[in-house]
Amino acid sequence: MIVGAGVAGLAAAWWLDKVGWRSLVVERAPGLRQNGYMLGLSGPGFETVGRMGLLDKLEAASYRIDENVYRDSSGRELLRLRYRDFIRDLPYLAIRRNDLVQALAESLSDTAEIRFGETVTGFEDKGTHVDVALECGETVKADLLIGADGFRSYTRQTLFGPDGDCLQPLGYYFSVYDVDAPKQFETDFVSYAEPGHLAEYYALHDGRLAAMHVWRDPRSGLERSDDKATLLKSISVGSHPQVRALLDQADGAGDPIIVDSLTMIDLPRWSKGRVLLLGDAAHCLTLVSGQGAGMALASAEMLGEALRVSDDPVTALGRHEARLRPIIGRLQARSRKMAAIFIPQSPFAFHLRNFVMRNMPRAWLGRYFSSAIRAEIELVRMR
Ligand SMILES: Cc1cc2nc3c(=O)[nH]c(=O)nc-3n(C[C@H](O)[C@H](O)[C@H](O)COP(=O)(O)OP(=O)(O)OC[C@H]3O[C@@H](n4cnc5c(N)ncnc54)[C@H](O)[C@@H]3O)c2cc1C
Repeated sequence: MIVGAGVAGLAAAWWLDKVGWRSLVVERAPGLRQNGYMLGLSGPGFETVGRMGLLDKLEAASYRIDENVYRDSSGRELLRLRYRDFIRDLPYLAIRRNDLVQALAESLSDTAEIRFGETVTGFEDKGTHVDVALECGETVKADLLIGADGFRSYTRQTLFGPDGDCLQPLGYYFSVYDVDAPKQFETDFVSYAEPGHLAEYYALHDGRLAAMHVWRDPRSGLERSDDKATLLKSISVGSHPQVRALLDQADGAGDPIIVDSLTMIDLPRWSKGRVLLLGDAAHCLTLVSGQGAGMALASAEMLGEALRVSDDPVTALGRHEARLRPIIGRLQARSRKMAAIFIPQSPFAFHLRNFVMRNMPRAWLGRYFSSAIRAEIELVRMR
Protein backbone atom coordinates (compact mmCIF):
# COMPACT_ATOMS: atom_id res chain seq x y z
CA MET A 1 0.00 0.00 0.00
CA ILE A 2 1.47 3.34 -1.08
CA VAL A 3 0.05 6.66 0.12
CA GLY A 4 0.57 9.40 -2.48
CA ALA A 5 0.84 9.25 -6.29
CA GLY A 6 3.70 11.75 -6.43
CA VAL A 7 7.28 11.20 -7.58
CA ALA A 8 8.25 8.86 -4.71
CA GLY A 9 4.99 6.88 -4.62
CA LEU A 10 4.81 6.17 -8.35
CA ALA A 11 8.51 5.39 -8.62
CA ALA A 12 8.14 2.98 -5.67
CA ALA A 13 5.25 1.21 -7.45
CA TRP A 14 7.46 0.87 -10.55
CA TRP A 15 10.44 -0.60 -8.67
CA LEU A 16 8.27 -2.85 -6.50
CA ASP A 17 6.80 -4.34 -9.68
CA LYS A 18 10.34 -5.18 -10.84
CA VAL A 19 10.91 -7.31 -7.73
CA GLY A 20 7.58 -9.10 -7.87
CA TRP A 21 5.32 -6.98 -5.66
CA ARG A 22 1.83 -5.70 -6.39
CA SER A 23 0.90 -2.26 -5.13
CA LEU A 24 -2.16 -0.16 -4.46
CA VAL A 25 -1.47 3.60 -4.61
CA VAL A 26 -4.00 5.92 -2.98
CA GLU A 27 -3.91 9.58 -4.01
CA ARG A 28 -5.94 12.20 -2.21
CA ALA A 29 -6.30 14.43 -5.30
CA PRO A 30 -8.98 13.60 -7.86
CA GLY A 31 -6.35 13.01 -10.56
CA LEU A 32 -2.79 13.79 -11.53
CA ARG A 33 -2.24 17.55 -11.25
CA GLN A 34 -2.07 19.37 -14.58
CA ASN A 35 0.30 22.16 -13.65
CA GLY A 36 3.45 22.29 -11.61
CA TYR A 37 6.73 23.95 -11.00
CA MET A 38 9.88 23.37 -13.02
CA LEU A 39 12.48 21.07 -11.56
CA GLY A 40 15.97 20.08 -12.56
CA LEU A 41 16.78 16.38 -12.61
CA SER A 42 20.44 15.52 -12.29
CA GLY A 43 22.65 13.14 -10.33
CA PRO A 44 21.23 9.95 -8.82
CA GLY A 45 17.64 10.68 -9.91
CA PHE A 46 18.68 11.21 -13.51
CA GLU A 47 20.47 7.85 -13.44
CA THR A 48 17.38 6.17 -11.98
CA VAL A 49 15.03 7.43 -14.72
CA GLY A 50 17.61 6.19 -17.23
CA ARG A 51 17.44 2.70 -15.72
CA MET A 52 13.64 2.93 -15.81
CA GLY A 53 13.85 3.51 -19.57
CA LEU A 54 12.11 6.88 -19.25
CA LEU A 55 14.75 9.20 -20.65
CA ASP A 56 13.30 9.58 -24.16
CA LYS A 57 9.84 10.30 -22.82
CA LEU A 58 11.10 12.80 -20.26
CA GLU A 59 13.39 14.49 -22.77
CA ALA A 60 10.40 15.00 -25.08
CA ALA A 61 8.54 16.82 -22.30
CA SER A 62 11.59 18.68 -21.02
CA TYR A 63 12.67 22.30 -21.41
CA ARG A 64 15.91 23.80 -22.63
CA ILE A 65 16.85 26.14 -19.86
CA ASP A 66 20.36 27.23 -20.66
CA GLU A 67 20.73 30.59 -19.05
CA ASN A 68 19.10 32.44 -16.18
CA VAL A 69 19.25 36.25 -16.38
CA TYR A 70 18.92 38.01 -13.03
CA ARG A 71 17.55 41.56 -13.05
CA ASP A 72 17.00 43.96 -10.19
CA SER A 73 13.76 45.79 -9.40
CA SER A 74 14.58 48.48 -11.99
CA GLY A 75 15.34 45.91 -14.70
CA ARG A 76 19.13 46.30 -14.60
CA GLU A 77 20.99 43.08 -15.27
CA LEU A 78 22.65 41.74 -12.13
CA LEU A 79 24.13 38.50 -13.40
CA ARG A 80 23.74 35.61 -15.79
CA LEU A 81 24.04 32.01 -14.65
CA ARG A 82 24.10 28.96 -16.85
CA TYR A 83 23.05 25.65 -15.33
CA ARG A 84 26.00 24.12 -17.16
CA ASP A 85 28.34 26.33 -15.08
CA PHE A 86 27.20 24.36 -12.05
CA ILE A 87 26.98 20.81 -13.31
CA ARG A 88 29.56 20.97 -16.16
CA ASP A 89 29.31 17.82 -18.30
CA LEU A 90 26.83 15.94 -16.06
CA PRO A 91 23.54 15.19 -17.82
CA TYR A 92 20.37 16.87 -16.59
CA LEU A 93 16.76 17.53 -17.53
CA ALA A 94 14.53 20.50 -16.77
CA ILE A 95 10.97 19.22 -16.52
CA ARG A 96 7.73 20.23 -14.84
CA ARG A 97 6.75 18.12 -11.86
CA ASN A 98 3.41 17.22 -13.44
CA ASP A 99 5.12 15.96 -16.63
CA LEU A 100 7.46 13.79 -14.56
CA VAL A 101 4.57 12.40 -12.51
CA GLN A 102 2.51 11.79 -15.67
CA ALA A 103 5.39 9.85 -17.25
CA LEU A 104 5.83 7.77 -14.09
CA ALA A 105 2.09 6.97 -13.95
CA GLU A 106 2.05 5.94 -17.62
CA SER A 107 5.05 3.65 -17.12
CA LEU A 108 3.35 1.51 -14.45
CA SER A 109 2.36 -2.03 -15.32
CA ASP A 110 -0.94 -3.61 -14.25
CA THR A 111 0.59 -4.82 -10.97
CA ALA A 112 -0.03 -1.28 -9.71
CA GLU A 113 -3.47 0.21 -9.18
CA ILE A 114 -3.92 3.93 -8.51
CA ARG A 115 -7.06 5.09 -6.72
CA PHE A 116 -7.65 8.82 -6.97
CA GLY A 117 -9.75 10.78 -4.49
CA GLU A 118 -8.80 8.22 -1.85
CA THR A 119 -6.76 8.37 1.32
CA VAL A 120 -5.81 6.48 4.44
CA THR A 121 -7.68 7.19 7.68
CA GLY A 122 -5.66 4.92 9.98
CA PHE A 123 -3.35 1.92 10.08
CA GLU A 124 -2.20 -0.74 12.51
CA ASP A 125 0.97 -2.78 12.19
CA LYS A 126 0.04 -6.35 13.12
CA GLY A 127 3.59 -7.71 12.83
CA THR A 128 2.80 -10.04 9.91
CA HIS A 129 1.01 -7.30 7.89
CA VAL A 130 -0.44 -3.80 8.23
CA ASP A 131 -4.19 -3.19 8.38
CA VAL A 132 -4.80 0.01 6.46
CA ALA A 133 -8.17 1.77 6.73
CA LEU A 134 -9.24 3.73 3.66
CA GLU A 135 -11.62 6.66 3.59
CA CYS A 136 -14.08 4.64 1.49
CA GLY A 137 -14.51 2.31 4.47
CA GLU A 138 -12.44 -0.58 3.11
CA THR A 139 -9.61 -2.11 5.18
CA VAL A 140 -6.65 -3.35 3.16
CA LYS A 141 -4.24 -5.97 4.47
CA ALA A 142 -0.81 -4.85 3.23
CA ASP A 143 2.62 -6.48 3.54
CA LEU A 144 4.11 -3.01 3.61
CA LEU A 145 2.73 0.51 4.02
CA ILE A 146 4.75 3.22 2.24
CA GLY A 147 4.01 6.82 3.19
CA ALA A 148 4.98 8.81 0.09
CA ASP A 149 2.54 11.57 0.94
CA GLY A 150 4.91 14.51 0.73
CA PHE A 151 6.30 17.12 3.05
CA ARG A 152 3.15 17.39 5.22
CA SER A 153 2.83 13.61 5.47
CA TYR A 154 -0.16 12.13 7.30
CA THR A 155 1.66 8.78 7.47
CA ARG A 156 4.65 10.36 9.23
CA GLN A 157 2.51 12.05 11.84
CA THR A 158 0.49 8.91 12.48
CA LEU A 159 3.62 6.77 12.74
CA PHE A 160 5.85 9.01 14.84
CA GLY A 161 3.40 11.48 16.43
CA PRO A 162 2.90 15.19 15.74
CA ASP A 163 5.69 16.91 13.82
CA GLY A 164 7.97 18.73 16.21
CA ASP A 165 11.74 18.77 16.09
CA CYS A 166 11.80 16.97 12.75
CA LEU A 167 10.64 20.19 11.05
CA GLN A 168 13.61 22.43 10.32
CA PRO A 169 12.48 25.69 8.71
CA LEU A 170 15.14 27.32 6.53
CA GLY A 171 13.60 30.77 7.00
CA TYR A 172 12.00 31.04 3.56
CA TYR A 173 8.64 30.63 1.85
CA PHE A 174 7.99 29.76 -1.78
CA SER A 175 5.03 30.29 -4.04
CA VAL A 176 4.28 28.75 -7.44
CA TYR A 177 1.59 29.50 -10.00
CA ASP A 178 1.05 29.64 -13.76
CA VAL A 179 0.25 32.82 -15.66
CA ASP A 180 -1.48 32.94 -18.99
CA ALA A 181 1.00 35.47 -20.40
CA PRO A 182 2.54 34.89 -23.80
CA LYS A 183 6.32 34.81 -23.90
CA GLN A 184 7.60 38.24 -22.98
CA PHE A 185 11.20 37.82 -21.89
CA GLU A 186 14.41 37.75 -23.88
CA THR A 187 15.34 34.29 -22.55
CA ASP A 188 13.30 31.29 -21.42
CA PHE A 189 14.28 31.80 -17.81
CA VAL A 190 14.27 35.21 -16.15
CA SER A 191 14.68 36.11 -12.49
CA TYR A 192 13.92 39.36 -10.70
CA ALA A 193 16.04 39.56 -7.57
CA GLU A 194 16.02 42.00 -4.69
CA PRO A 195 17.19 41.68 -1.08
CA GLY A 196 15.15 38.92 0.56
CA HIS A 197 13.02 38.07 -2.51
CA LEU A 198 13.46 36.26 -5.82
CA ALA A 199 10.80 35.90 -8.54
CA GLU A 200 11.52 33.51 -11.42
CA TYR A 201 9.66 32.91 -14.68
CA TYR A 202 9.97 29.96 -17.05
CA ALA A 203 8.43 30.02 -20.52
CA LEU A 204 6.27 26.91 -20.96
CA HIS A 205 5.62 24.91 -24.16
CA ASP A 206 1.98 26.04 -24.18
CA GLY A 207 2.86 29.74 -24.16
CA ARG A 208 2.09 30.20 -20.48
CA LEU A 209 4.61 31.18 -17.82
CA ALA A 210 5.45 29.18 -14.71
CA ALA A 211 6.16 31.63 -11.88
CA MET A 212 8.03 30.93 -8.67
CA HIS A 213 8.71 33.30 -5.79
CA VAL A 214 11.05 32.55 -2.90
CA TRP A 215 11.41 34.99 -0.05
CA ARG A 216 12.84 35.20 3.43
CA ASP A 217 10.17 35.37 6.10
CA PRO A 218 10.42 34.68 9.83
CA ARG A 219 6.63 34.21 10.21
CA SER A 220 5.03 30.79 10.52
CA GLY A 221 1.76 29.45 9.12
CA LEU A 222 1.65 31.63 5.96
CA GLU A 223 0.68 28.53 3.94
CA ARG A 224 -2.71 28.69 5.68
CA SER A 225 -3.40 32.23 4.47
CA ASP A 226 -6.83 32.51 2.81
CA ASP A 227 -5.68 35.13 0.35
CA LYS A 228 -2.38 34.03 -1.16
CA ALA A 229 -2.47 36.67 -3.90
CA THR A 230 -2.66 39.51 -1.35
CA LEU A 231 0.14 37.91 0.64
CA LEU A 232 2.35 37.73 -2.48
CA LYS A 233 1.48 41.31 -3.45
CA SER A 234 2.66 42.47 -0.03
CA ILE A 235 5.95 40.62 -0.59
CA SER A 236 6.32 42.15 -4.07
CA VAL A 237 5.56 45.83 -3.25
CA GLY A 238 9.10 46.95 -4.17
CA SER A 239 9.60 44.43 -6.99
CA HIS A 240 9.97 45.11 -10.70
CA PRO A 241 6.63 46.31 -12.24
CA GLN A 242 6.49 43.15 -14.37
CA VAL A 243 6.50 40.98 -11.24
CA ARG A 244 3.51 42.88 -9.91
CA ALA A 245 1.72 42.90 -13.27
CA LEU A 246 2.05 39.11 -13.65
CA LEU A 247 0.81 38.62 -10.12
CA ASP A 248 -2.23 40.82 -10.79
CA GLN A 249 -2.89 38.81 -13.91
CA ALA A 250 -2.72 35.46 -12.06
CA ASP A 251 -4.98 36.84 -9.34
CA GLY A 252 -7.49 38.21 -11.86
CA ALA A 253 -7.62 34.88 -13.71
CA GLY A 254 -8.15 32.97 -10.47
CA ASP A 255 -5.11 30.77 -11.17
CA PRO A 256 -4.34 28.61 -8.12
CA ILE A 257 -1.45 30.03 -6.09
CA ILE A 258 0.47 27.61 -3.89
CA VAL A 259 2.39 28.92 -0.89
CA ASP A 260 4.46 26.85 1.52
CA SER A 261 7.51 27.15 3.70
CA LEU A 262 10.96 25.82 2.89
CA THR A 263 11.26 23.35 5.73
CA MET A 264 13.53 20.34 5.83
CA ILE A 265 12.41 17.11 7.41
CA ASP A 266 15.12 15.51 9.53
CA LEU A 267 14.01 12.29 11.23
CA PRO A 268 16.21 9.88 13.21
CA ARG A 269 14.53 6.94 11.42
CA TRP A 270 12.33 6.47 8.39
CA SER A 271 10.54 3.24 9.22
CA LYS A 272 8.93 1.38 12.05
CA GLY A 273 7.96 -2.27 11.62
CA ARG A 274 6.29 -2.60 8.24
CA VAL A 275 5.69 1.12 7.69
CA LEU A 276 8.20 3.20 5.70
CA LEU A 277 8.35 6.88 4.77
CA LEU A 278 9.68 7.70 1.31
CA GLY A 279 10.59 10.95 -0.49
CA ASP A 280 9.69 14.29 1.06
CA ALA A 281 7.65 12.56 3.78
CA ALA A 282 10.90 11.05 5.09
CA HIS A 283 13.53 13.68 4.33
CA CYS A 284 12.22 16.76 2.55
CA LEU A 285 15.35 18.52 1.26
CA THR A 286 13.50 21.58 -0.09
CA LEU A 287 14.06 23.20 -3.47
CA VAL A 288 17.37 24.62 -2.21
CA SER A 289 19.01 21.19 -2.62
CA GLY A 290 17.84 20.76 -6.24
CA GLN A 291 17.76 17.01 -5.50
CA GLY A 292 14.40 16.33 -3.77
CA ALA A 293 12.69 14.71 -6.75
CA GLY A 294 15.94 13.05 -7.75
CA MET A 295 16.32 11.42 -4.35
CA ALA A 296 12.63 10.42 -4.31
CA LEU A 297 13.34 8.47 -7.52
CA ALA A 298 16.68 7.07 -6.39
CA SER A 299 15.34 6.01 -3.00
CA ALA A 300 12.47 4.12 -4.67
CA GLU A 301 15.06 2.19 -6.68
CA MET A 302 17.08 1.47 -3.53
CA LEU A 303 13.93 0.21 -1.82
CA GLY A 304 13.27 -2.18 -4.70
CA GLU A 305 16.85 -3.42 -4.47
CA ALA A 306 16.62 -3.94 -0.69
CA LEU A 307 13.36 -5.90 -1.07
CA ARG A 308 14.93 -8.03 -3.79
CA VAL A 309 17.84 -9.16 -1.64
CA SER A 310 15.97 -9.62 1.68
CA ASP A 311 13.35 -12.26 2.42
CA ASP A 312 11.93 -10.23 5.24
CA PRO A 313 10.43 -6.77 4.47
CA VAL A 314 11.42 -5.36 7.87
CA THR A 315 15.07 -6.31 7.28
CA ALA A 316 14.79 -4.76 3.81
CA LEU A 317 13.60 -1.44 5.28
CA GLY A 318 16.64 -1.36 7.59
CA ARG A 319 18.95 -2.11 4.65
CA HIS A 320 17.28 0.58 2.55
CA GLU A 321 17.74 3.18 5.28
CA ALA A 322 21.38 2.26 5.96
CA ARG A 323 22.21 2.80 2.29
CA LEU A 324 20.21 5.98 1.80
CA ARG A 325 21.09 7.84 5.00
CA PRO A 326 24.66 8.94 4.13
CA ILE A 327 23.49 10.57 0.88
CA ILE A 328 20.55 12.33 2.50
CA GLY A 329 22.84 13.50 5.32
CA ARG A 330 25.16 15.10 2.74
CA LEU A 331 22.28 16.79 0.92
CA GLN A 332 20.73 18.09 4.12
CA ALA A 333 24.05 19.60 5.16
CA ARG A 334 24.38 21.21 1.71
CA SER A 335 20.81 22.60 1.88
CA ARG A 336 21.54 24.23 5.22
CA LYS A 337 24.72 25.80 3.80
CA MET A 338 22.99 26.96 0.61
CA ALA A 339 20.04 28.40 2.57
CA ALA A 340 22.38 30.81 4.33
CA ILE A 341 23.33 32.47 1.03
CA PHE A 342 20.37 31.59 -1.22
CA ILE A 343 18.62 34.99 -1.03
CA PRO A 344 20.52 37.46 1.14
CA GLN A 345 18.27 39.69 3.21
CA SER A 346 20.35 42.83 3.73
CA PRO A 347 21.18 45.06 0.73
CA PHE A 348 24.90 44.77 1.57
CA ALA A 349 24.87 40.95 1.64
CA PHE A 350 22.71 40.90 -1.50
CA HIS A 351 25.12 43.05 -3.50
CA LEU A 352 28.13 41.19 -2.15
CA ARG A 353 26.58 37.86 -3.19
CA ASN A 354 25.88 39.20 -6.69
CA PHE A 355 29.41 40.58 -6.99
CA VAL A 356 30.91 37.25 -5.94
CA MET A 357 28.64 35.27 -8.30
CA ARG A 358 29.47 37.62 -11.20
CA ASN A 359 33.19 37.37 -10.68
CA MET A 360 33.75 33.89 -9.32
CA PRO A 361 35.53 31.75 -11.91
CA ARG A 362 32.93 29.44 -13.44
CA ALA A 363 35.39 26.56 -13.13
CA TRP A 364 35.26 26.85 -9.31
CA LEU A 365 31.46 26.81 -9.26
CA GLY A 366 31.39 23.81 -11.56
CA ARG A 367 34.04 21.95 -9.58
CA TYR A 368 32.14 22.41 -6.30
CA PHE A 369 28.69 21.36 -7.52
CA SER A 370 29.58 18.74 -10.10
CA SER A 371 32.00 16.94 -7.79
CA ALA A 372 29.34 16.92 -5.04
CA ILE A 373 26.77 15.42 -7.43
CA ARG A 374 29.30 12.87 -8.72
CA ALA A 375 30.01 11.81 -5.13
CA GLU A 376 26.28 11.28 -4.55
CA ILE A 377 26.01 9.22 -7.73
CA GLU A 378 28.89 7.05 -6.48
CA LEU A 379 27.26 6.61 -3.07
CA VAL A 380 24.05 5.39 -4.75
CA ARG A 381 25.97 3.01 -7.00
CA MET A 382 27.74 1.43 -4.01
CA ARG A 383 25.91 -1.68 -2.84
C1 LIG B 1 9.15 25.01 -6.15
C2 LIG B 1 9.90 23.70 -6.04
C3 LIG B 1 11.02 23.48 -6.86
C4 LIG B 1 11.71 22.27 -6.78
N1 LIG B 1 12.79 22.04 -7.57
C5 LIG B 1 13.41 20.85 -7.56
C6 LIG B 1 14.50 20.56 -8.44
O1 LIG B 1 14.94 21.43 -9.21
N2 LIG B 1 15.04 19.32 -8.44
C7 LIG B 1 14.58 18.34 -7.60
O2 LIG B 1 15.08 17.19 -7.67
N3 LIG B 1 13.58 18.58 -6.71
C8 LIG B 1 12.99 19.81 -6.68
N4 LIG B 1 11.96 20.05 -5.80
C9 LIG B 1 11.60 19.03 -4.79
C10 LIG B 1 10.69 17.95 -5.36
O3 LIG B 1 9.61 18.49 -6.06
C11 LIG B 1 10.18 17.07 -4.24
O4 LIG B 1 11.28 16.64 -3.46
C12 LIG B 1 9.46 15.84 -4.79
O5 LIG B 1 8.32 16.22 -5.51
C13 LIG B 1 9.08 14.91 -3.65
O6 LIG B 1 8.29 13.87 -4.14
P1 LIG B 1 7.27 13.12 -3.18
O7 LIG B 1 6.61 12.11 -4.02
O8 LIG B 1 7.96 12.72 -1.93
O9 LIG B 1 6.23 14.24 -2.72
P2 LIG B 1 5.18 15.02 -3.60
O10 LIG B 1 5.72 15.26 -4.96
O11 LIG B 1 4.78 16.19 -2.77
O12 LIG B 1 3.94 14.02 -3.75
C14 LIG B 1 3.15 13.66 -2.62
C15 LIG B 1 1.81 13.13 -3.16
O13 LIG B 1 1.06 12.63 -2.06
C16 LIG B 1 -0.27 13.10 -2.14
N5 LIG B 1 -0.81 13.11 -0.78
C17 LIG B 1 -0.48 13.96 0.22
N6 LIG B 1 -1.15 13.62 1.34
C18 LIG B 1 -1.91 12.55 1.03
C19 LIG B 1 -2.82 11.74 1.77
N7 LIG B 1 -3.05 11.99 3.07
N8 LIG B 1 -3.44 10.72 1.14
C20 LIG B 1 -3.19 10.46 -0.18
N9 LIG B 1 -2.34 11.18 -0.93
C21 LIG B 1 -1.71 12.22 -0.33
C22 LIG B 1 -0.14 14.48 -2.78
O14 LIG B 1 -1.36 14.89 -3.37
C23 LIG B 1 0.96 14.23 -3.81
O15 LIG B 1 0.43 13.74 -5.02
C24 LIG B 1 11.28 21.27 -5.84
C25 LIG B 1 10.17 21.52 -5.01
C26 LIG B 1 9.49 22.72 -5.12
C27 LIG B 1 8.31 22.95 -4.22
